Amino acid sequence: MAVIRPELRQDIRKYGNFDFAACYNCGNCTATCSLSTPESSFPREMVRYTTLGLEEDLKASLKPWECYYCGECTAQCPREADPGELMMSLRRWLMAQYDWTGLSGLLYKSMGMTWAAMMVVFAVVFFFAYSVGFHLETLLHVGHLFERIAIGTVGVVILMPNVIRMWYFTILKPKIPVSFKKYVTSIGTLFVHMFTQKRALGCDDNQLRWLEHFLLVIAYLSLLFTTVFLNWFSTESLFIHVLGYVLSGIVFIVTADFVFSRIRKNKAVAKQSQPSDWFFVVWLFLMGLTSFLVRFFIDLDLLETNKWLYLLHFTVLAQWAVIIVPFGKWSHFLYRSFAMYFDKLKR
Ligand code: SF4
Ligand code: SF4
Repeated sequence: MAVIRPELRQDIRKYGNFDFAACYNCGNCTATCSLSTPESSFPREMVRYTTLGLEEDLKASLKPWECYYCGECTAQCPREADPGELMMSLRRWLMAQYDWTGLSGLLYKSMGMTWAAMMVVFAVVFFFAYSVGFHLETLLHVGHLFERIAIGTVGVVILMPNVIRMWYFTILKPKIPVSFKKYVTSIGTLFVHMFTQKRALGCDDNQLRWLEHFLLVIAYLSLLFTTVFLNWFSTESLFIHVLGYVLSGIVFIVTADFVFSRIRKNKAVAKQSQPSDWFFVVWLFLMGLTSFLVRFFIDLDLLETNKWLYLLHFTVLAQWAVIIVPFGKWSHFLYRSFAMYFDKLKR
């Protein structure tokens, strides 16, 4: 028998700005959504689940990840309830359910906690730099080591267990029978969606936004590889120098456009911005910009006299790696890709 939790909507309201009182269940949003199908219908169904307090059904659902937040449903809602924002709020809420540490929920719900976590990371980086006398070579060496350790640790300790919990809630607990062969033969879906996010092309008039996201994902992942494994800040290879400049340039130019969109609120997706959205775009912008400048200052032989720049880059990198990637909006990218894979298994 379904368990009903009446206070669910108050809980989900802390993750976004949907007006439950305004919705009169007309179904316009579902009729408008170009990604909603008879087999997988949303967002009205998600509104109903939330209003009725069907927490377990929501946890087992992959539908919030099927929405790419084009905002069409919000534009057509006669009651201005903002169903697109509900889907976004549900993604944040689901992340908090998947996260075994409980930190995602805490950080999503409290901007003060997020700033406190950011300040702690800044203090750790600063005191470490102080303890080594701001010695540039040591900072560069430890910064590079940190990148490798952070990628491995965050992946193994936080992200993979959370993906396993997502699998448990959506496939194992609802007792969906899936053969081992299907897990293997469907694995390509995971990588196709991870690298292309091609489902977003199904949203009306979304081609430019899809292209920006596609460029950003490829540039971000390649920059990570170039910095961590090709040692961009120390290499002598001209090819890697230029590659790093191009990739970091794409990252900060595309994210600058996202930041301005959110300031101008000129797209449906940018109209409602929660603190987690700001942290994501601003820190990604800073990641691209500071890495570009660090390499540029190395090339001009100016970094030794401008160590503050590397310290800034190291701080942004550390905050990104230990807060935004495991507990913030970055992991939407991961969960959405797994949602497409799990959805294929379920079908
Ligand atoms: S969110 Fe708006 S469009 Fe959707 S069912 Fe409610 S009132 Fe209708
Ligand atoms: S925001 Fe776009 S993709 Fe998401 S439910 Fe609304 S219409 Fe569908």
